[in-house]
Amino acid sequence: MTATDSAATPDTLREELAAFKDPALARGLAQSIRALTPTKPDSAPITLMEVCGTHTVSIARNGIRSLMPDNVRLASGPGCPVCVTSNHDIDKVIALAKVPGLIIATFGDMTRVPGSSSSLLAEQAAGADVRIVYSPLDALTIARENPEREVVFVGVGFETTTPLVARAIQRAQNEGLPNFSIFAAHKNMPGALEVIVNDPELSVDALILPGHVSTIIGVEPYQFLAERYKIPGVITGFEPNDILQGIAMIMRQLHEGRAEIEIAYARSVMAKGNPVALAAIDEVFRTSDATWRGIGVIPGSGYEIREEYADFDAMRRFAPAVEETVEHAGCQCGNVLRGVLRPDECPLFRKVCTPENPVGPCMVSGEGSCAAYFRYL
Ligand code: SF4
Repeated sequence: MTATDSAATPDTLREELAAFKDPALARGLAQSIRALTPTKPDSAPITLMEVCGTHTVSIARNGIRSLMPDNVRLASGPGCPVCVTSNHDIDKVIALAKVPGLIIATFGDMTRVPGSSSSLLAEQAAGADVRIVYSPLDALTIARENPEREVVFVGVGFETTTPLVARAIQRAQNEGLPNFSIFAAHKNMPGALEVIVNDPELSVDALILPGHVSTIIGVEPYQFLAERYKIPGVITGFEPNDILQGIAMIMRQLHEGRAEIEIAYARSVMAKGNPVALAAIDEVFRTSDATWRGIGVIPGSGYEIREEYADFDAMRRFAPAVEETVEHAGCQCGNVLRGVLRPDECPLFRKVCTPENPVGPCMVSGEGSCAAYFRYL
């Protein structure tokens, strides 16, 4: 019986879910990883990168690094949506927050991310109306309840959140809601992966691919990794044994000299993804170049609102003056997001930069590598 079986009872579901954390299974998977891990001819470490913030946190919280063979390095990549949002985009949101009478609706993490000279939290303290929401649909509700006010939802994230934002825009249009718009800074993952596998400083051998994003996009957008770059990738879930199973499958591929994109998260991910969500994205957004913190501009890695929905684009609607972008001196978030620096190698880690006093977004976000290292290592 599987977790998706209609005959499953709460008890059997609980048992199945417990298996994803079962220590005996974890030990068996760790043994398989050790048995399958090859040695490189130059004795260099085998670098696996996870590109999902939820994986980053789960790996740290569950001590998965300590289960790896000595020659395996688990590097964290640009998988935290708040962290990869550029300083310039943060400054744009802050400029919007200063527009008189405007309500900013955003996920909580975004309020504490420092821009060049301010943050949403600082603007809120100075009188801006900044509200924390859990979904773009909450922002729609705020717009309906405040017809005399303009409401802007801050849209950051990958393919997981983009369809929801697309749906919110479609709903606003269908309802004729004139006071709702979006700051659109969504990104897609495959473009960033191409930069990562071409980074000579990093030298990635295989990728632990994101479960949530893959429920939307499926397998096909990753195939270039295997076909063009001969880099194996396994899509996996977020429980400790999901991740260990994904790593074991990667090691088997490396051991056998294969490079394929495999799914270790079949309870959620289908090869073709979610066509309904993809259609919603395509209806409202078109791909555009996007700036990633630490990486720079990646062609085709962002989403911008199509002309047909231009009225819902907050930057076009309000065109606020945006201050000149200044990067934070000393913050190594960019190198952390590229996986070339461990958070504890940043000179400010724990000394100056803490979750209570974050210098960069990697320490702010619950999915940030620096925050995960601070909490669990
Ligand atoms: Fe930036 Fe703080 Fe992380 Fe250093 S520890 S890279 S300052 S967020």
